[in-house]
Amino acid sequence: MPNVLLRSVLGLAVLWTVFAGGLPAASAGSCAGGADALFQVSTIDALLAGVYDGAMSLEALTRHGDFGLGTFDALDGEMVVLDGVVYQVRVDGSVQVMPGAATTPLACVTCFSQDASLHLDTVAGFEDLCRQITAGLPGLNRFYAVRISGSFSGVTTRSVPRQVKPYPPLAEAAKQQAVFELGAAQGTVVGFYSPAYVQKIGVPGYHLHFLDAAKARGGHLLDISGKNLTVSLDALDGFVLTLPDTPAFQQVNLSGDRSAELTRVEKK
Ligand SMILES: [Zn+2]
Repeated sequence: MPNVLLRSVLGLAVLWTVFAGGLPAASAGSCAGGADALFQVSTIDALLAGVYDGAMSLEALTRHGDFGLGTFDALDGEMVVLDGVVYQVRVDGSVQVMPGAATTPLACVTCFSQDASLHLDTVAGFEDLCRQITAGLPGLNRFYAVRISGSFSGVTTRSVPRQVKPYPPLAEAAKQQAVFELGAAQGTVVGFYSPAYVQKIGVPGYHLHFLDAAKARGGHLLDISGKNLTVSLDALDGFVLTLPDTPAFQQVNLSGDRSAELTRVEKK
């Protein structure tokens, strides 16, 4: 039987539902009975180092979640996983549904099941969105899936071009990124909050992608604004990391500190 915990944050009521009797019923499809954990392929530092070889098929990936983000073999665009469908936002701005046989060098998915929702009156930008969501979290040491569906007054995204071998580091590849000023858009923000201790493995803080309602535009989210937004949150109770069985991953040097590079490629 669920206990309901009522918190008040910045004058907003935040409803957290605590499932005392185990996990809530999962959604249909690949997530039926699925675990409420973040499942990740490879590490962010490997991607930063230029390890872009696909390490897992999308068919296998979506067995671990119906919601998430990532990229594709050869860094071919931005991935959005929404309701079990894997979308590719290419550097030319086009969006397509990807086949299950396509592969990913880095992706994060979970079986999304809402634990809480936050109402935000006004969001003035990406940092403001992050600050307000953080204020509504019960703590910063667990992972949260973040889903925001609605009408936004301004959205800016980017995508990256497919690379050729020998692969350059991500900071080099990202110089060829295309930035999309989508303006007012309806759609869904898809992503995760990760704790600071995930550094080198994942993206500490918020990593968000966007897909518009027509499934025609999207990408890695750089900026966003809007009014009367509802943020759905799924508190995750685990983190599962799968390591690529590829020569590129086996041999790359992952000993350095790439946090400055990460900030440069993730932000506007
Ligand atoms: Zn991204």
